[in-house]
Amino acid sequence: MSWNEPPPEVRREMNRILGEDIYLRAQRAWERARQADPDVILESWFRTPARQRELGGATYSQHPLGTAVDLVQRDAAKRAAIVEALRREGFWVQERGRRVHVQAIHPEWVQRVLPQILAAGLYR
Ligand SMILES: [Zn+2]
Repeated sequence: MSWNEPPPEVRREMNRILGEDIYLRAQRAWERARQADPDVILESWFRTPARQRELGGATYSQHPLGTAVDLVQRDAAKRAAIVEALRREGFWVQERGRRVHVQAIHPEWVQRVLPQILAAGLYR
């Protein structure tokens, strides 16, 4: 999973704020999805805040933190199997058409550390 990885400075700051290597969980999301469906495509992982704005995505998305991945599977049954496998692992998952957005951190939980994330400049 070397494609589109979050840069070292983002990893360092997030792991410092969260007190754990959160990227092991992000990586595990991809591995679990691949186990559920070897044909799944990893479409997007880390995005710079500027890229996130260009795409019109949520300002406080987890893509600029490198803790969210977007997976693509056109087949609805295969997609459902991916979603189920990831939810069973405790990931926060949202289906958006043929895309599956997966977050390593629950959105409510990330709100609690948002002031520290903002202070670290990770959304700038
Ligand atoms: Zn996403």
